[in-house]
Amino acid sequence: MERKINNDHVKIIGGATKGIRGEILTFYDNPFHTNPEKCYLHYSDGLIIIQDGIIIDVGEYNKIHQLYSEISDIEHYTDSLIMPGFIDCHIHYVQSPIIGSYGDTLLEWLEQYTFPMETRYSDKNFADKVAKIFFRQILEQGTTTANVFATTFETSVDAFFEESEKYNTRMICGKVLQDQNLPDPLKDISAEESVTLSEKLLKRWHKKGRQLYAVIPRFVPTSSKEQLQMAGQLYQKYKNEGVYLHTHLNESEEEIAWVKRLFPNSINYTSVYDSFGMIDNNSILAHCCLMKEEEWELMHKSDSSVAHCPSSNLFLGDGIFKYWEATRSDRAVKTGIATDVGGGTNFSILRQLNEVYKTAMLNKKNIDALKCFYMATRGGAEALNLEDKIGSIAPGYEADLAVIDLKASDFIEWRLTFTSSLFEKLFVIISLGLDNMNKATYIAGEKVFDRFRTPKFIYPKT
Ligand SMILES: [Zn+2]
Repeated sequence: MERKINNDHVKIIGGATKGIRGEILTFYDNPFHTNPEKCYLHYSDGLIIIQDGIIIDVGEYNKIHQLYSEISDIEHYTDSLIMPGFIDCHIHYVQSPIIGSYGDTLLEWLEQYTFPMETRYSDKNFADKVAKIFFRQILEQGTTTANVFATTFETSVDAFFEESEKYNTRMICGKVLQDQNLPDPLKDISAEESVTLSEKLLKRWHKKGRQLYAVIPRFVPTSSKEQLQMAGQLYQKYKNEGVYLHTHLNESEEEIAWVKRLFPNSINYTSVYDSFGMIDNNSILAHCCLMKEEEWELMHKSDSSVAHCPSSNLFLGDGIFKYWEATRSDRAVKTGIATDVGGGTNFSILRQLNEVYKTAMLNKKNIDALKCFYMATRGGAEALNLEDKIGSIAPGYEADLAVIDLKASDFIEWRLTFTSSLFEKLFVIISLGLDNMNKATYIAGEKVFDRFRTPKFIYPKT
């Protein structure tokens, strides 16, 4: 996207056309590698024109309104900041019922809470109920796209995509492949059966409307070599059609030691995935806290992406993600933000940004609000290779939007009166970390969540 969107207005009218007016912020370039002040567009009083779910124009209200003066359906948000919908690059919807469980380190936490809960998703009714609650949680927080783990069962994948279709959200999900080192009810019957089922679900859901499919081995220890081999082949077969490979990498010391015991001749953890054809330009690796330099280099060369999960890493006492290593300009790795619920302790990407700053400061590295908001929007879209569709407010983009409430509480309204720049305002929004900062969420131009409406959630008309 080029900056010409500021003055290259093309008038296309026909069908359902609407406007959304208010303060607008969107990124079009990467502030880690270019001057942050030249990476975004900000309109203190802007107007977005949407037609059939696609943004067809955006700019200063006075200029755009003149071009589209016949449009009467304009929603005006005062005391708000309109941004692209947030992108959660790694989350387990099936763990929604165990978020915030008192626990231990990663492997004990999986044994104690995660595996017993995930066995329940063979029950479609249960999966349907959790999917419904999950979508309400993320939409309430302004998240419009997520890269999601289901679990072993077909029912868990169907329940998720069926709910996503109702909202018309652009989502990535898939069956989790896991055939060893976990309880029997959750274990795949065989490598062959599991990969066959994954392919069946891929054909059922990939590119059905806005839905996208991912091949998901949980992590190296829970898959046999045969399953890793077949999963890698499945990904390679479909990657040119936009299918993803989604898994965990280098989250904790004990996990890395386990992988080393399973693959004693491997150079490192990343190379194990790579040996099965899984490190590629549509691969998203969650965590990457404890990376060796050669692993970053491999990710850079393969153009794969990392999902930074700060609240989960703090909660489970994993390593600290080093954003300055991931984004190093000579071998940058695409980096998005993720909640990793239920290891993460909330569904809010804004609150993750709060933790991004604090985890960085544990290493005496600060990170400014522009970089944070970039990773939460356009950076996340780049990590998912969807930067031509979502993550920005520009002509041709899908109209997924979050509306941040600058009067979410009396205190934040008062606190913001002491800021004198956009930069300061954004940092206060992150730092206060409130739960109710998002007041409305649009999916393909339809307002599916409104904090002040009854009902708050509405499925868009199909
Ligand atoms: Zn995870």
